[in-house]
Amino acid sequence: MQGDEGGTSVHPETLDSIREELGECVRCKLHKGRKTIVFGEGDAEAKLVFVGEGPGFEEDQQGRPFVGAAGQLLTDIIEKGMRIKRAEVYICNIVKCRPPGNRNPEPDEVAACIGFVKQQIAVIRPQVIVTLGNVPTQNLLNTKEGITRMRGKWQEYEGIPVMPTFHPSYLLRSPGEKGKVWEDIKLVMKRLGLSIPSKESDS
Ligand code: SF4
Repeated sequence: MQGDEGGTSVHPETLDSIREELGECVRCKLHKGRKTIVFGEGDAEAKLVFVGEGPGFEEDQQGRPFVGAAGQLLTDIIEKGMRIKRAEVYICNIVKCRPPGNRNPEPDEVAACIGFVKQQIAVIRPQVIVTLGNVPTQNLLNTKEGITRMRGKWQEYEGIPVMPTFHPSYLLRSPGEKGKVWEDIKLVMKRLGLSIPSKESDS
């Protein structure tokens, strides 16, 4: 990234080299409160990449993305809903250090960190990206439109189809919205050529 704030001008060859470049990052103030950098995990050749907002408490503790309650719900969406293994997809966030109190990352923090997720996407070149909630949707797609209006409609990032949907933590607060996420996920499955179960999943 070398100072190209949020940029994608440099394309490293591997996820490992991006992680190496990230190092013990102090590029933004989020480094002060973190225990662990949560880089992302999954298949480096995944057809599907999920992008969330940032690590929460559990993620910061474990150094892995989406491992708390919202993470369990995302895992259920992937494994029970889509019927693929979580290890077959790639999961990462817009910022890699936990914002204090799980607040949204601030614009300067996003600007400092977003280049890394862009590089991760550039290396993986998935067939589809799913953005989870407002922060990744607005920042990757460069829009101010809210997730309620954006979800369920195909967008594009660097030539890659993007499906915005609600963040699983929102679903924990509003379980009545799960059906909408399932609708969005079915569109993703169709695009990936996955067979869609005729019966609605319990995810
Ligand atoms: S959030 Fe990103 S830019 Fe900020 S310190 Fe962590 S890794 Fe660095």
